[in-house]
Formats: sequence, C-alpha cells, structure tokens
Amino acid sequence: MKYIFVTGGVVSSLGKGLAAASIGTLLEHRNLKVQLQKFDPYLNVDPGTMSPYQHGEVYVLDDGAETDLDLGHYERFTNCTLSQFNSLSSGQVFENVIKKERRGDYLGATVQFIPHVTDAIKDHIQQAAEKTPDTDVIITEIGGTVGDIEGHLFLEALRQFSLEVGRENVCFIHVTLLPLVKAAGEIKTKPTQQSVAKLREIGIQPDIIICRTEHDLDEDNRRKIAMFCNVPALNVVAFRDVEHTIYECPLDLRKDKIDRLVSDVLGLESDTPDLQQWQNFVERLIKPSHKVRIGIVGKYIELQDAYKSIYESLTIAGAAHDTKVKLVKIDAEKVEKEGTKAISKKIDGILIPGGFGERGIEGKILAAQYARENDIPYFGICLGMQIATIEFARNVCGLKGANSTEFEKDAPHPVICLQEEQQGITDMGGSMRLGNCRSILISGTKSAELYDNAPFINERHRHRYEVNSDYQDQLQEAGLVIASVSEKEGLVEIIENPEHPYFVAAQFHPEFKSKPNHPHPLFSGFIQATLKNKLA
Ligand code: GLN
Repeated sequence: MKYIFVTGGVVSSLGKGLAAASIGTLLEHRNLKVQLQKFDPYLNVDPGTMSPYQHGEVYVLDDGAETDLDLGHYERFTNCTLSQFNSLSSGQVFENVIKKERRGDYLGATVQFIPHVTDAIKDHIQQAAEKTPDTDVIITEIGGTVGDIEGHLFLEALRQFSLEVGRENVCFIHVTLLPLVKAAGEIKTKPTQQSVAKLREIGIQPDIIICRTEHDLDEDNRRKIAMFCNVPALNVVAFRDVEHTIYECPLDLRKDKIDRLVSDVLGLESDTPDLQQWQNFVERLIKPSHKVRIGIVGKYIELQDAYKSIYESLTIAGAAHDTKVKLVKIDAEKVEKEGTKAISKKIDGILIPGGFGERGIEGKILAAQYARENDIPYFGICLGMQIATIEFARNVCGLKGANSTEFEKDAPHPVICLQEEQQGITDMGGSMRLGNCRSILISGTKSAELYDNAPFINERHRHRYEVNSDYQDQLQEAGLVIASVSEKEGLVEIIENPEHPYFVAAQFHPEFKSKPNHPHPLFSGFIQATLKNKLA
C-alpha cells in the first residue's frame, strides 16, 4: 500500500481538504483504489459536540462516526465509503492512550508522547489500511497549519511512519499560499519557503508543493520555490481559485498533472485519466438551462459551512435536472419575529435542515405551514421533518400546542419525543441515534417511486427525538402518509403529504449520500418537483 500525506502551510482555509479530495478523484480516474483520512489536532474527541460556529457541519458516516466536513468532500469526490478509521482527533488519541494506561496495558512503562502517542497515531493509519486491504493509496490530510503546537505530534508520527514503511511508499504533499502583495504587484514565495523550512525542521521533506494562488504560477516563481524548497520544479503545482464550482478543483490540479507526479513519486503504474464524465458534470453545473430558488430556513444560515452537505446535495441534484439551484438563505428567527413576509415571494421551494435547540423553531413551523398551504415544494431533513410533523399536528389534526419535548418538556401533545433508550442520557457526546439504519419503504408512496421501488433503504441518522408512536394513527387519519419506517423499531423515517406538489420529509440525513453522478433520490425528487411546479 502507498500513502499520501497532505499538510498545510502559511494560513488555514487553503482548501487542503479539497486538494486531498481532488487528488483522490484523479487517482481513481487512473483506476487506482483510494481511501481518504483526516487527522484533526484539536482536543475534542469528535466534532459532534462542537458548535456550528466553531466547526461548520458535522458529517456522519455509515458507522455513525461524527466527523469533519472534509470527509463529506472525500465521499463526494470519490467512490469511497468511509468509517471511523478515516477520522482521528488528538482528543481521540489521548483518550485511547489514557484508557490503555489505566488498564495497565503499558506494563509499567512511563507513558510518553513519543513513542506512545505517536504509535497510537501510526496505528490509526494501519487500521485504515487493514480495514480495506484492496486499497492502493491512502490519502491522509492533517488539519491545521505546520508550526501549530498541537499538530506537531501528528507530523512527528508521519515522519516515523515514512521511515518504517519505506520512504518510497510515501508521498508528502504540502499545500501553501502564494500571496499577491498588491503595492509591489508581486506574488510572494517567501511564506512558502518558510513553511517548507518548518516542515524540514521536523524531518519531513515534501515531495510535491501545491501553491494556492489567485493567479497563475509563472516559471520564475516555480523555479524559485523548487530551489528553496528542495523539490524538482515540475513538482511545484499551481492550485488556482476556481471560477464556478469546487468540482472544478480536480480539473485545475490536473493541468499540472498532479496525479502523474504522485504516481511517479510512489512508483505506481496507472492509466492516464479519462475525465470526460467529470467534465460533463462540471459543464452541467456551469451552464444549466433552468434555475430554481430554494429557500433554506435555518438558524445558522449566515455560516458558509453549517449546511455544507445540504448545499452540495442541492447543487448535485440540480445538475441532474439541468437546473441551477440558487440558495436563498432565510433566518428562522426573522420568520419568527416578522412572520412569513420574511420569506421571499420569489422562492420556488423550501428546505428546512437539521438542527438542535429551541431558537427559531416557531419560525420554522411557520415556514412549513406557508409551504404546505401555498403548494410550495417542501423538503424537511431531520429537524425539518419533526417541524413538518408538529405543523401538521397543530394545523391539520387540530392538536393545539403540539410540540417536540425537546422544546417543551410538558407539551400538551408531544408528537415528537424521546424514545425510552434516550431518556436519562446525560453525556452529550456520541449518544444520539447515529449512522446507518435499514428501513422499510412503503410501496405506493412518492418516496418508494423516487427510490425506484427498492424494498429497503439504508440512510444515515443523527438525532435523539422521534415521531411519537401514540400519535401516528391520528396523523395518518388526517392525511399524513408514512412512507418509511425503521425495520427494527418501526420508527417513522419518512413522511409525505400527498395533497401537495412535493411535501417529503425524512428523519435521516440524505445529504450524506449524494455523489456527483448519483444525486440522492429525495433531493433529486425535490428539485424535479420544484422545477415542474415553477414551469407549470
Ligand atoms: N434536534 C432533533 C433531534 O435530536 C433533530 C436533530 C437533527 O436535525 N439532526 O432529534
């Protein structure tokens, strides 16, 4: 097996995750089997308990691991399906080491950063390798920036790792920034030189340097970086700002043939990539014939990253229907305060995403009512499904004060409530209903049609509350359709309102299962119905 380690220098937010994912795309197109992995130096065990303000979206995997949103890019840009072995934080490393120490596994040794912590990091790479033995290349991205105190142990572990598996089996890629100093009209290479020097201080000589730049990388700068950073000039690669969409990133990195360079460094025989399909997908994104405006009613709409996978899934589904999806971000609290006039008249569909806590809830319920009463296509995800249920209970079933016990402990009609196994849980970390769950699709429903009448679906979850089974009959009698229930417990998974152009809401998170050429059926159905409704 071969290993690629992607580090970052100069500043954060350089698009290191997209670079890693794009290299994955390109290598897959060379018919290599890849896997991606992210190491995050922070002390949280996982991002599950972090605020979206801190971290953006929490991306959930099949096995229920709560991970960084970069894993979303990895899964969307490649064919891989990731697991807990593809994500590691310092918090997790220390938790494991200390647990082992308490068990006495270290047999009386003094437990130290080196070798015990670095060993634990190296083990994680090996575990990922062992999990999928047919992988050709594992790409590991290290969060943070070279020079950060907290990232040091990870880099030290990588240095040791490369020594152990053989330097010829490892390719170190360093992503840096080439800033333009406007006053001088010059692109500067010094920060790159210095951050590579920092890496070399730790004992890591990068094989390839990826330079993020708003402009092009001219030959002088390429040679300069090569000389000062001790790499061949060919191995200095430009990674320009893409014009339209992040899905252009692999195409941009291909211009300098990064996939060939990586293959050469690792001594891999591989095919020249055929990127036509990817290119077609990008073109469909850039030049669509239609346009729909989707209103997203959420609490964190001002944040770029809080609903990342939802935005990507909408875009991907749009491409499948030759439609540009314009995202109209609507603040749920504003709807709460100002009523439905805070919802633009120009929107064609409404999506309510997942969420936690009471803030903005009444605004979301109002938005769901507005969609239902005005025949505006509605798509609810997780909390968005609970909201739709509450709204239907209140305004169609006449259950006054219907609510979720998450927002009102003693709600007169707790149509959404905790299941018994969730009651009494006090630890917030990793204690939700997480990951894949097999559910039965009810035939004859809109959802069954969208899933091509599959008997079962397997979707990822991340929530505590459920539709209260005591109210299911009442809701159904009033016209709500239950289109899917979990196989084991019979929990409600999808609800639909058939008296409507598209009113579908899921308890799970379909946004974690969208790939460029395979949009998720529920997203696809939503965009298709929205477009049809708009053109009607
Ligand atoms: N807060 C709700 C629950 O825990 C919904 C969670 C979500 O939307 N991810 O059930």
